[in-house]
Amino acid sequence: MAILSPETLPSTTCSPTGADDRLARLGVDLSKYPSVWQRETYEPIPSRANREIHGPILRGFGDQLLGKVSNPVMLTHIVTTRCNYSCGFCSFADTLNAKTNELSLEEIEKTYATIGNNLNVIVYSGGETTLNRNLADIIEAAYRLTPVKSVYIISNAWKPDLLLQITHRVLQRCPDLHLTWSLSIEGPKPVNNATRYTKANTWDAWQNTVDAMEGLKSIRERFGYDQLDVQLCTVCSPGNVDVLDGWYATVRDELQPDKWNLNLMRKSVQMSSHQLASFDARRASRQLEPFEAKYLQITQQVREDVLSGKLKFLYHTRTPEDGALKSAVDLISQEENRRTVLEEPLQFCCKAGNLGAYIGSEGDVSGCEEFAHSPAENKSFGNLRASGYDFQAIWRGPKAQQYRLQAGKARECQGCTLESQRNYPSILLSFKTLLKAKQLAGQIR
Ligand code: SF4
Repeated sequence: MAILSPETLPSTTCSPTGADDRLARLGVDLSKYPSVWQRETYEPIPSRANREIHGPILRGFGDQLLGKVSNPVMLTHIVTTRCNYSCGFCSFADTLNAKTNELSLEEIEKTYATIGNNLNVIVYSGGETTLNRNLADIIEAAYRLTPVKSVYIISNAWKPDLLLQITHRVLQRCPDLHLTWSLSIEGPKPVNNATRYTKANTWDAWQNTVDAMEGLKSIRERFGYDQLDVQLCTVCSPGNVDVLDGWYATVRDELQPDKWNLNLMRKSVQMSSHQLASFDARRASRQLEPFEAKYLQITQQVREDVLSGKLKFLYHTRTPEDGALKSAVDLISQEENRRTVLEEPLQFCCKAGNLGAYIGSEGDVSGCEEFAHSPAENKSFGNLRASGYDFQAIWRGPKAQQYRLQAGKARECQGCTLESQRNYPSILLSFKTLLKAKQLAGQIR
């Protein structure tokens, strides 16, 4: 292990540039973060030959035609449900910090070794993912033991230098991997810092997120990490509905992440943490809550801006065409959620539990988080600890057969807007939506 020489440290005498002015406006001081300027070096892990998405998609279509159960193409892996923040819109708001017996690295390695030959995308979520100290080791295990190509890490960015260190390590150890950080931010500083409740009043969660984003963009340029993307993620909720118009303009024109996600507050937390009528009651009265109406308005604006080139989704992909296709898939996913809110006919069926898999922090396997943690009826396919970490034994067991047939039809599914668990795996296995994505990609400027 070596440290790069200190000549790479920032000069305090260089004259300010437009980029410096922008960072100053955002309150970003990258000289605070050693990992922006220097890195530890790591040996690459020998890579598996083929990590392209085409093989998994073709095998998925083949299995579908033959009526066989596919191995998962996409995995949502909850690495912890601990968090140092306390946001009312969190999917785990009711049980945050209640479960601490997380799967160990060794347990996860055994699981990944049995997950099959189709895995292409892993979304690491929580809780705060970086509170699991093994996060970088877990990603490396996935790279060694599976054909994964894309890894997404969702984080509240509480410690920017830690995110930079993880990035240096993962991108050097796993040179064929595409890494995306999805950083949470809920609006302008006062709204964000009030919404992302932390115990210390002086804690500036907003600044940490913006610093982490700029630090990641900076190391991409400095160290040539051309497979790194940095997204910002905002949850559309009653807490920020009044500021979202201005916030969207700020994100688009000033913050300029590689991509911005606007997620609708999950149905499962809408009633538990907020004084809202139930989803069923709201739909029966045909009333939209203000945050739902705002979601429809802003996502429509995002669509128009992406197609006109006013908003860029800057995916760092091998070719611009691949990036446009990813952007088109995002727009289709967003359109599906708009249809869900409006109760219009949906574009595709849910493939959770088929192409999409879910692993909870303590080893529950299911098709999605709603199935795994449903208080009405737990639809976990089984637990890894009880099955000797044999993912296939659970994935092909009787409970999995029973519950995957209910995907898209169960009580939990009404009003579901789970992008990475419902929409993305399903879009990939529908000729109709893949064709639509191709056409849409051609329209993106
Ligand atoms: S529609 Fe949503 S809740 Fe239902 S199985 Fe699919 S991902 Fe899970």
